[in-house]
This record gives sequence, structure tokens and C-alpha cells, in this order.
Amino acid sequence: MENNTKIEVIVVGAGPAGVSAAITLARAGKKVLLVERADTAGEKNMFGGCIYAKQTADIFPKFWETAPVERPISNQKILLLTDCNSTQIEYSDSSKGCYKAFSVIRAKWDKWAVEQAQNEGAYYAPKTLVKELLVENGKVVGIQTEYEKFYSDIVILADGVNSILAKQIGLRNEIKDTDVTLNVKEVIKLSKEKLEDRFNIDENEGTGCKIIGGPLKDMFALGFMYTNKDTISIGYGISLDDLKKKKITPYELLEELKEHPAIAKYIKGGEVIEYSAHLIPEGGLNAMPKVYDNRVMIAGDAAMMVNNIHMEGTNLAMLSGKLAAQTAIFALEKGDFSASTLSLYHKKLKDSIILKDMQTHKNTVPFIKKHIKTITEMYPEFAQQVLELMTTADEIPKRAKYRKFLSSTVKSGIIQKSIPLGIFAMEKCLKK
Ligand SMILES: Cc1cc2nc3c(=O)[nH]c(=O)nc-3n(C[C@H](O)[C@H](O)[C@H](O)COP(=O)(O)OP(=O)(O)OC[C@H]3O[C@@H](n4cnc5c(N)ncnc54)[C@H](O)[C@@H]3O)c2cc1C
Repeated sequence: MENNTKIEVIVVGAGPAGVSAAITLARAGKKVLLVERADTAGEKNMFGGCIYAKQTADIFPKFWETAPVERPISNQKILLLTDCNSTQIEYSDSSKGCYKAFSVIRAKWDKWAVEQAQNEGAYYAPKTLVKELLVENGKVVGIQTEYEKFYSDIVILADGVNSILAKQIGLRNEIKDTDVTLNVKEVIKLSKEKLEDRFNIDENEGTGCKIIGGPLKDMFALGFMYTNKDTISIGYGISLDDLKKKKITPYELLEELKEHPAIAKYIKGGEVIEYSAHLIPEGGLNAMPKVYDNRVMIAGDAAMMVNNIHMEGTNLAMLSGKLAAQTAIFALEKGDFSASTLSLYHKKLKDSIILKDMQTHKNTVPFIKKHIKTITEMYPEFAQQVLELMTTADEIPKRAKYRKFLSSTVKSGIIQKSIPLGIFAMEKCLKK
């Protein structure tokens, strides 16, 4: 970047939100500087995980042809664990060529994504930690890095869940323990053949698993597994307050999960090549900050845009980055960077799936927390009992078995709870 280049927009953070914002601005011919604290984008970033094809392709058309994706996610499993048994529900999408999601490794993906932004004309400053925002007369005018100051008309904050910068200007408060989950993950290396054999997939297929119950029972916690080319990503997220109550270290809980017979068979003999931990903002709409002010907007995790019920984060990050950039383009063309002009960003979010879905799930997390025992302990038990009943042939007459099953399930309350719970949950989502 030449010394006399006038930067119109600075984007802080080269994750999905930041890169999407930078690329959208660069494509519109705007002078945009993308600033990232890591030496190489993505090297310290982690997620489950899969990126979703729709919002990703909006930014990177036909990305699967050139991007470092691991596998298209063609199978989705739900594993319901009891203490030592499991019930698996599997959904396979074999409509080839119609990709919905891909497993990726963030270290490879983020690096590639930044290169695309640079190819489109964005300036990129890696190894650049933004210490604080420069504020003059109550307006954000640029950034202070460890070594120098940069000025711009607009700053887009895409600096992730902790966003110290949004806190500095009073747009965000400290995140509460109840509004965040701690996520731990290991990447386990296996041979490609073993991985495909164990998950029953071919080389152009992949699996994503959600894991409920077992060692994670009676806690606001969800496990996950994703198949990459020749590695498995396995981990879980747990609310910080439950982790404290359980008095167990995150690592110990991951070991317990990996030792469960339904999980152990997938990862047996594999080598752990990476362990990482990261927070996810899960407070939903109620914890969302104001997302714009004079000359500044917030996108992605920094603005708490995560749909934890559907495990969506990168898609909302990319979409919000794009909408913030479109708003910045409008403001630059108008020559007005006031809060009133940037409020267009909030309107765009409202018209998009981001605020619509966050509104839908506004009360879902408290609802799930209230019924956590039913969902993570009783449902897996119930599923196991039904399938065991249907598939066990022994000397006990069926009539006696049905009686025993009915009396134990009625006593536990699972039948009375499960159907109304499902309907009640949806009704709640439909309420405005
Ligand atoms: C375990 C786990 C599993 C997940 N699984 C999925 C999944 O399967 N699918 C999905 O869609 N989402 C998933 N998510 C959520 C998803 O990862 C996030 O929602 C998404 O990464 C948010 O993108 P972002 O750009 O807002 O923030 P981030 O990805 O966190 O990027 C922020 C960037 O800002 C940089 N930065 C921060 N502070 C500064 C600073 N002061 N100066 C300069 N740079 C800075 C960081 O280094 C980082 O590169 C998962 C998250 C976790 C933790």
C-alpha cells in the first residue's frame, strides 16, 4: 500500500465476516484495508465445522472448484447417547453436485479466503493487532495498531466473539457466562481408507454429526464430529456456567466423550494432531449489541450473530460482512458516515435471515435450558428403550415387555413430555 493511499474503510479481523466485507468493498472499487493480528490468517482460528454453500458461494462463486474444502457434507447424523449405548439417526443427501455444506479446516480456508480478497484489490495487513479505535469528538476515525495509526471514513469490526474494540466504544458489555459456550476440539488423523470405511462414505462424501447426551447429559452441551479428507474433527460446546457446576476440566470431558463406545469406534487408533478451544456467543437476539454508530459497524461473532440451534455462524458472519460492506458503499457514495446513514445496515440485517432467524430463536435457548434433562437424558434413554424393545428376541413374552415398557416410560414422564415439548418449542418460535 502506498503511503499516500487514502483508505476509505478499515476492516478489523480476517475471519469469515471480515473477508466477506473486504471482498465486497474491493469489488466495488473502494479502498479497503483488512487488518489481522495473526501472522497468517486462520492460523489461530478454529470451528467445528462446516461452511454453508449458499452464503459462501455468494462471496466466492463456485468456491468448491478451487478452495481448500475437505469434503462435501452429504450425511448428517444425530447420535443420542445414554451412558453406554446409542441411537443414531442418519440423513443422507445423495443428490450429487447439489452441495449444501463442506467441512473445512480454518487454517487453510481463511488463508485462501484472504488471498481472494487481495486478488480483488483489498489491502491486507497481517501481524497487525489493533489495540484500540481512534475516536475524535465521539466519532470513530481509525485504528491504533501496536506500531502506527491508520485513518478511514468507516471501520467495520469483525474481530470475533471477544471484540474488545466494540467494548471500547460502549457498543458491547462484558459477555455473560450464560451467553457464551466454551468449545474444545481435537483433530484426529486416520488413514483416508479407514475414515471412509468407518463412516461408510466414498471419497466425495462427508459426514457431520451432532452428539446429544452421554457424558454431556443434563448440561447445555452439544458434541460434534466432522469428517475431513483424512482427519476427524471432534469436540463439544458447553455453557460456561454448566462447566463450572460440573467441576470437570474441558479436556477431561472431551476424553469421556471420546471413550464412549459409540464414538470410540470412529476414532480408534487415530493420532491427535491438534487440540484447540474457542468461545461461541450463544446469547442470541437478547444479547446482541447495537450494530452501528457514527462511522462504525459490527459484523459476525463480534455482534453475537450465531444461530446455535442450527449450528450456523460462518454463514451469518459472511452475510453480515457483506451487508455491512454494502452499507459502507452506500455511505461512501453519499459522503455521509453518520449513525443515521449506517442504520441502513440494521435494516438490511432485519430483512435478511440473520435477524429473522435470531428473532425466531429469541427464546429457544432458555427453553432448552429449562428442559435440558428431558432432551439430553430422557430422549436418548427413550429412543434406546423403544429400539431395544423392537429388536430383542428372547424368552420374555412381548405382552410382559410392553407392560414393563409402558409403566417405566409413563412413570418417567417421557411420553407426556416429548410430544407437547416439541410442539410447544415450535409454537414459541412462531411467536413474535
Ligand atoms: C467449536 C466451534 C464449532 C463451530 N462450528 C461451526 C460450524 O460447523 N458452522 C458454522 O457456520 N459455524 C460454526 N462455528 C461458528 C463460527 O466459527 C463463527 O461464527 C465464525 O467464525 C464467526 O466469524 P467472524 O469472522 O465473525 O469471527 P472469527 O472467525 O472469530 O474471526 C475474527 C478474526 O479477527 C481477528 N482479530 C480479533 N481481534 C483482533 C484485533 N484486535 N486486531 C486484529 N485482528 C483481530 C482474529 O484473529 C480472527 O482472525 C463454530 C465455532 C466453534 C468455536
